Amino acid sequence: MTQSIAPPADLPLDSILPDEPLLLMGAGPVPVSQKVATANTVVINHLGDTMNQVIERVRLMAQYVFQTASPHILGVAGPGSAAMEMAITNLVWPGKKVLCIQNGFFSGRLAEMATRCGGDVDILRCEDGEGVKLEQVQQALAEKQYDVLTLVQGETSNTVCNHELADVCKYAHEQGLFTIVDAVCTLSTMPLEMDAWHVDVVITGGQKGLASIPGVSLIAFSERVWPYMMDRDVNMPHWCFDVRLAKQFWEEKGYHYTAPVSGILALHEALRQVCLETLDRRFNRHRLCSQALQQAIEAMGLSLYVEPHSRLNSVVGINLPDGVEGKQLLNTMSQLYKVEISGSFGLPIVRIGQMGEQSRAHNLFRTLHALGMSMKSCGGNVDLPAAMAALERGLDRSSALTA
Ligand SMILES: *Cc1c(COP(=O)(O)O)cnc(C)c1O
Repeated sequence: MTQSIAPPADLPLDSILPDEPLLLMGAGPVPVSQKVATANTVVINHLGDTMNQVIERVRLMAQYVFQTASPHILGVAGPGSAAMEMAITNLVWPGKKVLCIQNGFFSGRLAEMATRCGGDVDILRCEDGEGVKLEQVQQALAEKQYDVLTLVQGETSNTVCNHELADVCKYAHEQGLFTIVDAVCTLSTMPLEMDAWHVDVVITGGQKGLASIPGVSLIAFSERVWPYMMDRDVNMPHWCFDVRLAKQFWEEKGYHYTAPVSGILALHEALRQVCLETLDRRFNRHRLCSQALQQAIEAMGLSLYVEPHSRLNSVVGINLPDGVEGKQLLNTMSQLYKVEISGSFGLPIVRIGQMGEQSRAHNLFRTLHALGMSMKSCGGNVDLPAAMAALERGLDRSSALTA
């Protein structure tokens, strides 16, 4: 006898999804292209010739996007956090000394994961709103020997960018550390040269910079760090995240677990679009769009959370003016204007994403208009026409944006 539980089977998804899809202009997930969306509807066998070709092409395209010649690029069934966990759990075990640079919420998560893996973890805490300085890292490494350094390229939570990342990673490499860089929000939106900067692990997720779907992530390991993980003789507690098992699928075309085939197909299309656009053009588009948005927000009479020298372009943090309540503002934007942006983790800011399709002129105009109108109806005193004019001027500077 089955139990008499009444499941809501008479209610189709349409009854809860909005009539008109919201424009996702927050800190992720971001809108996906039609090619990515279509690929995500396809299910194929996770083993066999077709999948093998897909994996091979994903690896080759990812090598370009990560700027590495290393063949050790693996997919992860899981969110960006799963890729973070895969990085940490393969590099950190009891006794390993780990220095974690913390700018905010996500870089702090790496420290928490390293602690859970039994690492001897020290946190180099940056001032709020500031990227890490090379001197700070030099000082920390002079005081104690470490095995692993972790840092984020773009700290999505408070919109800080570690602009000195290249120098920090090169220095850490000289000192014999392995470096783990979280590039979930930044990969393909701004330069990251894995080989030239001597980064050992780069973590990324699907739903932010790469503009694919959430839940399938990519991780790249350097040739240098690979034997360190392969030769590990300490117990590895995670079965799914063990690179020695994951390589059976990603490198040897065998079975580890059933791969998220649709998500990998989506990632294939997202990577292909990055390659077709080329990294240089894509970086340029993201920078120009984000800067035009930043200028427009200031022209509106609002201020940005982070000073220009530490500011991230991939996600823009805007201070809430006095009297405007964040939740009410976000609700107004989504309900009246069908545009969704993000609040923050405890900070008095709202955040607008500039990742992938978010960095397009038509999406920027619509978002800026929605922000200005909603600010006004929530009690903010803003100059929307000035903002729209500033956005138009900012975007007009580049013909690259229409390419
Ligand atoms: C979003 C994000 C993560 C976590 O990704 P999830 O897919 O939510 O697990 C990690 N790091 C950064 C920098 C992020 O922006």
